[in-house]
Amino acid sequence: MKKKYIMAPGPTEVPPDVLVEAAKPVMHHRTPQFRKILAEVLDGMKYVLGTTRNVYIMASSGTGAMETAMSNLVNAGDKIIVGSIGAFGDRWENLGKVYGANMIKIAAEWGYALKPADIKKALDENPDAVAVFVQLNETSTGVYNDIEAIAKLTAGHKAVLVVDGISGIGAQPFYMDKWGVDVTVVGSQKGLMIPPGLAYVSCSEKAWKVVEACKTPRFYFDLKRAEKALTKDKMPDTPWTSAVSLIMQQAVALRMIKEETNEKIWERHAILSKAVREGMKALGLELFAKENPAVVLTSVVAPKGIDTKILIKKVRDEYGISMAGGQGKMEGLIFRIGTLGYTDRFDPIMGVAAAEMALKEMGADIEIGKGVKTTMEVLMREYK
Ligand SMILES: *Cc1c(COP(=O)(O)O)cnc(C)c1O
Repeated sequence: MKKKYIMAPGPTEVPPDVLVEAAKPVMHHRTPQFRKILAEVLDGMKYVLGTTRNVYIMASSGTGAMETAMSNLVNAGDKIIVGSIGAFGDRWENLGKVYGANMIKIAAEWGYALKPADIKKALDENPDAVAVFVQLNETSTGVYNDIEAIAKLTAGHKAVLVVDGISGIGAQPFYMDKWGVDVTVVGSQKGLMIPPGLAYVSCSEKAWKVVEACKTPRFYFDLKRAEKALTKDKMPDTPWTSAVSLIMQQAVALRMIKEETNEKIWERHAILSKAVREGMKALGLELFAKENPAVVLTSVVAPKGIDTKILIKKVRDEYGISMAGGQGKMEGLIFRIGTLGYTDRFDPIMGVAAAEMALKEMGADIEIGKGVKTTMEVLMREYK
């Protein structure tokens, strides 16, 4: 027998009350009974995003919501600014290429955050840019961006600000309306605590005007169709068959989120990730994030001679714990311990212990127990 755990930055573990919801009979989606649940989910998502604007549900993983943002805002030939600090930032660039955008790419070295001054310069030099695409949290490197500062820059510019909050939302501070974010995209399998398969998009008034004018061909992911279905009756609806069971699960997860409150959830993630970070530092390991370390995961540089592809396989197959390795050019060089979503006091201890044991067994020069001790000390001091 082997007990299995997910300590990856998505998909994340799903609370038992949310799991059993999926075992309930499937409802027909065009019924008052289901639309009441849909309304509850949309309302809960407004709370999570910090917006009074409508939220649209996509039956897709997070990338579907990213593609929705691109295809509903950008015409071929339009100028856009892409701020990339890792693999998911590069995904914005790849999407922009597919849709024929005229792209200005602002990149930071992996491990660093975007510099708002660089975004400002790009906006000043490109008054015709229609949108800026960034990540709230760059999951591949474990670094978050200062969205509040970037939103201040786009507020006075023609361009709308599009934020991929797929891993960060539901874990770290985010205020769509208060900060002035124009388009937010998020996925269900990370901080929102349900399985993969749902994604969400919300647009500011400024962004909605761009959506209405955008001529790019689109059908399934057309936000105008989503808006029409949402608002044509008193009760909300989706243009296509709703992902009924996932939406039922999301309703239960959102009740948990509302009960804990956004602020308490952000605080919990900050402490759990700090406990992992301090544990890794106590072991003498180097963190990959050189600034703005993520709260949803901790990215760690492997000691010399350790291939993290082997480390991740060992931790998964021998210990039953799914962690993440490096993506793209960091493959084999870093490992990432998730503390995202349904995570609590003892999860960081397990993550750090597993990393210690695997590294030791692979021959790394570390003192076993040193990281866990520090992790426990942080938790005893800070976790309430
Ligand atoms: C997970 C993730 C995505 C991709 O989401 P999928 O659900 O795999 O399509 C995009 N951006 C960020 C920042 C992510 O963490």
